[in-house]
Amino acid sequence: MMDLNQSHSVKLNDGHFMPVLGFGTYAPEEIPKSKAFESTKVAIDVGYRHIDAAHLYQNEEEVGKAIREKIADGTVKRKDIFYTTKLWATFHRPELVQPALERSLKKLQLDYVDLFLIHVPVAMKPGEDLLPKDASGKVILDMVDIRDTWEAMEKCKDAGLTKSIGVSNFNHKQLELILNKPGLKYKPVCNQVECHPYLNQSKLLEFCKSKDIVLVAYSALGSHRDPKWVDVNSPHLLEDPILKTIAKKHKRSPGQVALRYLLQRGVVVLAKSFSEKRIKENFQAFDFELTPEDMKEIQSLNRNLRYGQILFAVDHPYYPFSEEY
Ligand code: NAP
Repeated sequence: MMDLNQSHSVKLNDGHFMPVLGFGTYAPEEIPKSKAFESTKVAIDVGYRHIDAAHLYQNEEEVGKAIREKIADGTVKRKDIFYTTKLWATFHRPELVQPALERSLKKLQLDYVDLFLIHVPVAMKPGEDLLPKDASGKVILDMVDIRDTWEAMEKCKDAGLTKSIGVSNFNHKQLELILNKPGLKYKPVCNQVECHPYLNQSKLLEFCKSKDIVLVAYSALGSHRDPKWVDVNSPHLLEDPILKTIAKKHKRSPGQVALRYLLQRGVVVLAKSFSEKRIKENFQAFDFELTPEDMKEIQSLNRNLRYGQILFAVDHPYYPFSEEY
């Protein structure tokens, strides 16, 4: 059960708790890494206890330093922070999984993470390049059974390097592959996927709820619009007239309405901002409520618009977004 009034956290299927509002740390390459450091400190000061990161974001050193500074100055204890990192697609081969997590931990200078996710179901050629490419510029994919990767994830939990394990960008069939795996030791605690009023993921959410898997929403504010990953001609979510009208009625911002909409549906939500004003604004998603009519209106905005389509992996057998959900 999600508790929006008391602890602001949800109990995962392995018994651990996840704060329902998380701070996103991805920023396009041209943004100085020091912004991630400063913003993570602000976020912890404001009250965020869930921090979402990844090897791919190339700023775990800065985010880890911010967390350690906030522990050192007495603002929080390590146990108060829920830190997520992710296994990038070039490390799917089972023997590469634990070393990849150990590498993140070394950068972070922490002993464990709270959650380790398979970032995407598709694998890419192992190596140091985040997007390995051939001479013609095509991303080089790799085929690794996600169930083998999952077994290596389970070992990371057993080794105490992560409290929980989960997945990201999986469709329901891929979740089923894991759930039906012979000898499954741990279920994924969550599936982190793109989710917002234009892609409300109703069917995937229902499926996840039926399996006691938490749906964690990314790009809940309409995405970073980094041209590396997103079609910049796609409409801006927060400029939607209906979101704006509902926001005005509640004397809130469209961003707060977008976050609150997900929280009221039992979705854990990530919000990225490197601006102090918006970091604070987004944390004020708890102290107002959308009416059932507001919820219905926002629900009607769905248009299956996916900002991040990872089109370079469209030919991979595990490309997740060809399925309806
Ligand atoms: P997002 O949370 O949708 O935010 C998008 C942009 O909105 C930010 O760049 C931010 O810019 C701006 N913003 C923030 N608060 C706002 C507000 N109240 N009003 C107006 N604009 C606001 O961004 P996202 O990075 O796509 O997703 C969030 C996090 O999810 C990421 O940081 C990452 O941790 C995770 N993620 C995961 C995956 C995955 O594959 N698993 C993919 C994408 C993202 P400013 O910084 O200028 O405020």
